[in-house]
Amino acid sequence: MLLNLHTHLEGCVRPETAAELAQEFGVSAPEGGWENAFLIKGIGNLTVFLSHVAAAYPILGSAAALRRVAFEAVEDAAADGQSYIELRFGPGTHAREGFDVHQALEAVCAGVKAAVETTGIRAGVIACLLRHEPQELVEEITRSAIALSRSGIVGIDIAGDELLYPSIERFAPLYRLAKDAGLGLTAHAAEAGPASAGREVVERLGVTRIGHGSHIADDPEILEWVRQHNVAIEVCPTSNVLTSAAASLATHPVHAFTSAGLSVVLGDDNPENTGVRLQEESMLLVREGGLSQATVNGFASASIAAAFCSDLDRSALKAILASEEK
Ligand SMILES: [Zn+2]
Repeated sequence: MLLNLHTHLEGCVRPETAAELAQEFGVSAPEGGWENAFLIKGIGNLTVFLSHVAAAYPILGSAAALRRVAFEAVEDAAADGQSYIELRFGPGTHAREGFDVHQALEAVCAGVKAAVETTGIRAGVIACLLRHEPQELVEEITRSAIALSRSGIVGIDIAGDELLYPSIERFAPLYRLAKDAGLGLTAHAAEAGPASAGREVVERLGVTRIGHGSHIADDPEILEWVRQHNVAIEVCPTSNVLTSAAASLATHPVHAFTSAGLSVVLGDDNPENTGVRLQEESMLLVREGGLSQATVNGFASASIAAAFCSDLDRSALKAILASEEK
């Protein structure tokens, strides 16, 4: 059973959809075409990685565009065999004159809802606060996310350049508001930053999940601390190799996480940029990563426990897993 707990809408845009949206926005096609602009060619760093994700930014600034790509992202997840997906995106990136973050969040919720009805899989939306965004903007995003908590928003996240903007203190009051409103809390941390950044987002923001958390594997004490606090790590294997957060799948921190008994959940981060979807990620962890099939299968129950879904959906997902295990 496949559950996708970490994937970015901006990294799920079909190249053929990008070409059509570009025409509508009057954006010229990148040299070599959209597929080439999205696809990362080899191992680099987070900055290079994010430049490929950003290729989709100029064509997502309308309700119709966001609704369409959200719909298609869920459709593609269903075609990949995923039973549940949490789709995250940064509304602040796509807001512009006459199109605000609330409308952006609403559009993605609408696209996801429509796709859930067509595909029958379950899905939720996570609003990303970006590390470089001004305080006023991240406050606006949080307020809108809370207002839309009954319309499809299931959580909030912090994303962006961790090395340039390591401080998270200003997000603490917003995380308290989101928690009080019943939203799930996660944050990208210790992906490019040190292990201590992973502990910090738990202590200061109260997250129950950490995005990537790769460098937590460098520090046995923090590894054990994360286990004791029952915080799940959202592992995106191929993305971590492409950003050099992990040297290879064989030496990926997921080995340290599973040996230490941490709760591991999977995501495919930006499938149109990495060229790898969740189903293939799970197979690669066995084939190239050397994890046992039983270990990888175990990520499903950890994902159901850590998902930002309703109790009703959690029970339904448990029932699907139980029927598959029979
Ligand atoms: Zn991510």
